[in-house]
Amino acid sequence: MSTCNACNEKGTEKQKRLRIAIQKSGRLTDDTEKLFRASGIKFNESRDHLLAHAENLPIDILRVRDDDIPGLVMDHVVDLGIVGQNVLEETAMQREVDGLDTGYKQVMIMNFGDCRLSVAVPTECEWHGLSDLEGKKIATTYPFLLRRVLKAQGINYKAVLLNGSVEVAPRAGLADAICDLVCTGATLQSNGLKEVETVYTSKAVLICRDQDLYPEKQRLLDILVQRFKGIMAAAESKYIMMNAPKAKLEDIRKILPGAENPSIIQLEGNPDRVAMHVVSREKVFWETLEQLKKLGATSILVVPIEKMLD
Ligand code: ATP
Ligand code: ZN
Repeated sequence: MSTCNACNEKGTEKQKRLRIAIQKSGRLTDDTEKLFRASGIKFNESRDHLLAHAENLPIDILRVRDDDIPGLVMDHVVDLGIVGQNVLEETAMQREVDGLDTGYKQVMIMNFGDCRLSVAVPTECEWHGLSDLEGKKIATTYPFLLRRVLKAQGINYKAVLLNGSVEVAPRAGLADAICDLVCTGATLQSNGLKEVETVYTSKAVLICRDQDLYPEKQRLLDILVQRFKGIMAAAESKYIMMNAPKAKLEDIRKILPGAENPSIIQLEGNPDRVAMHVVSREKVFWETLEQLKKLGATSILVVPIEKMLD
């Protein structure tokens, strides 16, 4: 049995399996599972199982509440976790106060889980800025993130800690304002609130425990990260094909967003026109296609890309 000096782990089969904590059921779950599937990680167990073993790779998945994920990584119970930055930072600040370990490494930022933590007040309230919160009661699930921002501005307030239904607090007379996660703002509106100030923006992140991993786990993590990045790059990229007048090639290249060097193929029987194939690293909007058409491009095709490896 080998031992890794860096992390003192014994190289048993069990300990060589990469343990990843993900949200059991919630806003991050579908995107996380989709990413795993696209990366070639196969699971048989249903979502009800706390622990799932990948069939084809030495990976175990732990399905838990998102709030538990940072602690599981910081306590070295799992090697990796996928969680929102909001929960990660809030938990780290709480653990610091509680005298618990707060070490972790951010491996990569994901392309899902986007949301913002915002202050909202009843629609009829006038709003001049954060200083309006002086002396007010603010309901939130994120007291530490809120405090970080308001303390920096020297604002005194009273936090009312609620772990759910934060948006009903003002109507129920529990608070004057709220500080809650917002995506579209529809929930706020239906509760008679308006969003007035964003205090934090968040995305999902992949985090790793702060000690070195056993080398075989590290190799597997490197492969996973490369696959995740390939899938994310592919999701944002498109393969564009068109026929175009040779004389307009430079103009066409200028309007294609994030495009790399195109392949140009001479069209048979027409010396003035070519076929152009190009990978665009950004979204392609209808406006761009209309501009291409104006420049004389025809048969314009925009095709999604499934995987990408640079
Ligand atoms: P759990 O049962 O796991 O504790 P939860 O109810 O606390 O779940 P979700 O609502 O599933 O959490 O949100 C999980 C994370 O998804 C949030 O912490 C945030 O990072 C992210 N998120 C993305 N979009 C939104 C949104 N519109 N509203 C709230 N959170 C969002
Ligand atoms: Zn939660």
